Amino acid sequence: MPGYVLIIDAMSNRRIHLRSQLDTAAYQVDLAETQAEGLAKIRQDAPDVVIVADDLPGLRLRQFCRALRATPMSQLTTVVVAVRSENHSARVSALNDGAFDVIDQTANSTDLKARMRSFLRSRQFLQDTRAHPAPQQVQGLSEPMQEFAPAVIATFVHGSLADHSDIARVFDAETGIETRTLAAHAARRDPDPETDVYVLFETDHSDEARETLAALLTHPVSRHSRILFVTDRADKSASPLDLGAHDHVPNTVTQNELALRIKRQARLKRDAERQRKTATKLEQIAYVDAVTGLNNRAAMDDYLIGTDRSLAAHPRQLAVLIADLDHFKAINDNHGHAAGDLILAHVAQTMKAHLRDGDFIARYGGEEFLIVLPDVAPDQARTVAQRLRNAVSDSPKMIAGGTYVRATISIGVAIALRTDRVSTRALCDAADKALYAAKRNGRNRIEVAQHHVQPDLKAQSIGA
Ligand code: GH3
Ligand code: MG
Ligand code: MG
Repeated sequence: MPGYVLIIDAMSNRRIHLRSQLDTAAYQVDLAETQAEGLAKIRQDAPDVVIVADDLPGLRLRQFCRALRATPMSQLTTVVVAVRSENHSARVSALNDGAFDVIDQTANSTDLKARMRSFLRSRQFLQDTRAHPAPQQVQGLSEPMQEFAPAVIATFVHGSLADHSDIARVFDAETGIETRTLAAHAARRDPDPETDVYVLFETDHSDEARETLAALLTHPVSRHSRILFVTDRADKSASPLDLGAHDHVPNTVTQNELALRIKRQARLKRDAERQRKTATKLEQIAYVDAVTGLNNRAAMDDYLIGTDRSLAAHPRQLAVLIADLDHFKAINDNHGHAAGDLILAHVAQTMKAHLRDGDFIARYGGEEFLIVLPDVAPDQARTVAQRLRNAVSDSPKMIAGGTYVRATISIGVAIALRTDRVSTRALCDAADKALYAAKRNGRNRIEVAQHHVQPDLKAQSIGA
């Protein structure tokens, strides 16, 4: 079943009306008459959405929402309160008490179904991101904004037919919302990069707000902003929620309710932002070696796979260097492991500083580094290797106690010409053999693999 909806209402005619407005082919809809019966059903099989009547006898919404969230099974259940549409204060207090949304007791099918899809989408988002939940990531409006959070920036967009900037003016500093206004054509062309929430007003006579919605959702500057759609259109056109708006209210909405909804959208936007940042950070950590700050083994493997693919499609000249610190064990033995780490990082950064943009360097073993130089001629590759070796041996590093330690490296070099068609694996093997030769021949020196690395047909098949 794609969605399970539970309606809790003491009035049987309203229960039945709501059920008839839902797409019962798409959702499993269950009914309960009392709070106790509803809670028993929730405990048995947590619904995706609970629609509860605000005049349900004995209902204390705040406790009800809290109880659902405190139970792992129903933690992500979306609570929606059905109120009489003209009861503005009931709408606001339901939102304040933790409801995810409010609907009319006489809600029509188009609106209700669009809202249901939107609830299920946001629930899915929460489920998907649950592995790394951002703080305050809960469905509801009652959570306080983060302390010291910067003011929410809401931009009211007015179309060519009506100017709603007067609504913006009544938001004062106490709401914690800074309001701006923007003409629709300007919003489409040149959105405001700081805006958390755009508020779009739709009038009966124009599709401009819908055009602006589409433009804001795709514009690089505004695509992460949230969009609240205010409409007085009661026709059968598609719901703004289905067109990508994040929230949708009728134009009878009060200031209070609008402010609450703007804040909730701002919070969701900032949660998503945090989520994106965490993901990027985790990605970075996964590819960076903690001791040296260079690419790690995983990054190297990915890089080599990518390089093999591109070589198979477009053969190029390429050099692979393997560098290894000389007698590093002795450095550890003489100065301690911590000093060893310091020197390792110093050597790594020294080498990195002497490479060009576009070259690749990774620490792939204890004191071993892999360097790839794309598009270099053989004598250039040799020159680069010498430059790295000189740079390292010419920059002794001071360790604790003021002693200078001079590390040296040996480097094995393997070079592929355009016509060689070798894989990076074959180049690495050849560079490794050359490195052993450099060690055998006295260390602090380079050796170039003697031509040519055996052609490796794998290179041609990878990615082909
Ligand atoms: P060679 O010139 O033949 O390469 O001699 P070596 O001593 O450098 O080589 P060997 O392979 O015998 O020893 C490598 C040493 O590197 C041993 C190991 O303890 C040290 N090592 C590996 N990883 C780290 C690290 O992350 N930090 C420190 N401090 N030492 C490390
Ligand atoms: Mg070594
Ligand atoms: Mg080694």
